[in-house]
Amino acid sequence: MSSYLRGTAEIVRSYLRIAALVPSGGAGLLSLLVALNLILGILPVLFVVATSVMIGHVPAAVTGGVGSSEWQALVIAFIFASAAFVGQQILAPLQVALGELMARRVDGKIHQRLIVASLRSPGIGPLEDQRILNDLSQAVRNLEFGFRTPGVACAALLSLLARYAQLLGYVFLVGLVFSWLAAAALLATTMIFRKGNRGGLRTYGRVFYGNIETLRETDYYRGVAIHAAAAKEIRVFGLSGWLSGKYRGLQLGLLEKIWAERRRIYFVPYLRYTAFGLIVAAVVLAALGRAAALHELSLTQLALALQAALAALRLGENYAEADTQTQFGMFAYDGVQDFERGMAEYEERTVQLEPRRDPHGLPRQEIRFEGTGFHYPGSDRSVLDGLELVLPAGRCTAIVGLNGAGKTTVVKLLARLYDPTEGRLLVDGIDLRSFDVDDWRRQIGVIFQDFNRYELTAAENIGFGAIEIAGDRERLREAARRAGVLATLERLPLGLDTPLARQYENGAELSGGQWQRVAIARALFALENGASILVLDEPTAALDVRAEAAFFDRFVDVTRGATALLISHRFSSVRHADRIVVLEHGHVIEQGSHDELVALGGRYAELFRLQAERFVDEDVDLETVNAADIAGDEESDDRGGFAAPEPVASAGTEDAR
Ligand code: ADP
Repeated sequence: MSSYLRGTAEIVRSYLRIAALVPSGGAGLLSLLVALNLILGILPVLFVVATSVMIGHVPAAVTGGVGSSEWQALVIAFIFASAAFVGQQILAPLQVALGELMARRVDGKIHQRLIVASLRSPGIGPLEDQRILNDLSQAVRNLEFGFRTPGVACAALLSLLARYAQLLGYVFLVGLVFSWLAAAALLATTMIFRKGNRGGLRTYGRVFYGNIETLRETDYYRGVAIHAAAAKEIRVFGLSGWLSGKYRGLQLGLLEKIWAERRRIYFVPYLRYTAFGLIVAAVVLAALGRAAALHELSLTQLALALQAALAALRLGENYAEADTQTQFGMFAYDGVQDFERGMAEYEERTVQLEPRRDPHGLPRQEIRFEGTGFHYPGSDRSVLDGLELVLPAGRCTAIVGLNGAGKTTVVKLLARLYDPTEGRLLVDGIDLRSFDVDDWRRQIGVIFQDFNRYELTAAENIGFGAIEIAGDRERLREAARRAGVLATLERLPLGLDTPLARQYENGAELSGGQWQRVAIARALFALENGASILVLDEPTAALDVRAEAAFFDRFVDVTRGATALLISHRFSSVRHADRIVVLEHGHVIEQGSHDELVALGGRYAELFRLQAERFVDEDVDLETVNAADIAGDEESDDRGGFAAPEPVASAGTEDAR
């Protein structure tokens, strides 16, 4: 009994949480839906009353004949019954339509909340946190399916008004014309049936979400299989069979688990509830029969009590228009709320040291990593360990190291996507945490390895570097020109207003190299808006060593005077940086200029020689390559958009053309 009450209380609580969302659909619509659902609840009860009165009049009307007053009473009851029936038929579609409107309005607000929550955290930590990702996945999954959203749950919750108004109406009729005890027994039985149906659904839903990680995995495989992005590789590598087998295996494993749980949740309780329901129904019906036999009930009363009792019992069923919707919509809403809470917790944890300082124009001297240690949330492995690193202002520093050395982590700390777990970062001696996160980020332009290729116009792709001045055409063009991509963009169908995706009208696809230049233009545009630090984090990983060297050389060239940071795992491509820092296992092991490091004869010298030898193997002279590439040839293509080796004289800069 106590578990019954606990379960019921939980369902009521979840209904209340959804109910709290309902007003966001608008007060007018809400009142209309409440009224409509109550009417839809009352009409079937009126139908039962009218048909019972009709049945009660039948014997006398037959005796009195057509035209008798009894006959007329029968006809009037018939008209009432018909009106109640037709009324339901007319109002039911309206209930669906208004419910959909309510769902759309509420879901619109929920989407906004999700977007606000996703963007609110100053760091990206939460979006790499498994727990928060699960919450987000639960929320988004249901929102995307569309029929299990919090909004749909709101409409469904209101439709319960119709069902329960009906139930109370029937029970009231039984009490009124027959027995209040029988009425109470019927109400209890119906509610127990409901608990079986609805409560089972709740437990079943939990099983579903208990497997959210598998669900996310299956979503991923399905996405890979049906979306265009991987279509080429899947075909070229013949992955279709493997992919569908993997998807099928995961899906079947999950379904088998769910099926087993479903038998446990529904089948055994079903037998118990059914037995109980049958006994109560049998007792009530027998008592009714007995009362009728003893002439304690009129024909109308008997018809009324019988119809109402059976209709009440039938309301113990699963409500197709409400149950799944309220349950899964509620899960989705839980996901939204948990996600919001998780993100808020992260935000609260973001340290803001007082007094707050203004980073504008900094650094004038240096950025210093002081005894910096870092491990990613949820992992104990130190990625950086007592890192001491200085980035002098106005100079270009390169960090090189093998994959996994911690280079990108250095960039993430610099951009304050994470805070160090030990030590600190100082900008001209000021702790980085004294700056407002957004103010600090405005000082930095970063091009990450996986920089975004927005399916928006070329101007927007560049303008995102400094959204505040994104409308300034002259500066946009200047950034594009310095990045060496202006002429390419101007040749597109709508010039800088061309959407950079082929699927849009007048859209165009850029080559990998052209995209890299757009990304550089984005960073340079940030510089136009007062950013003072530029970071290139291996956006060239897909290029060969030679093209990367050329790309970096151009970067060094166009960012002269800014505090620049170049990241690469290729030792031979950063020779022109003012200073080169070699990072290994989160420590600086060597630093100096290219010549100094070569003279030192250490790690850098060794790896530089190895990679330079590869140039020689490819029969290319490094000096020639760099000289040509610094000049920058926009006409070239995918090798980073920079020139293949050719005589300096013929390369020509864009300005010269
Ligand atoms: P690099 O840029 O030098 O290749 P990274 O800074 O990306 O190296 O990574 C350093 C180490 O941190 C690697 O071992 C990597 O596996 C780990 N790492 C990177 N990102 C995460 C993350 N989000 N969560 C946990 N570990 C991470």
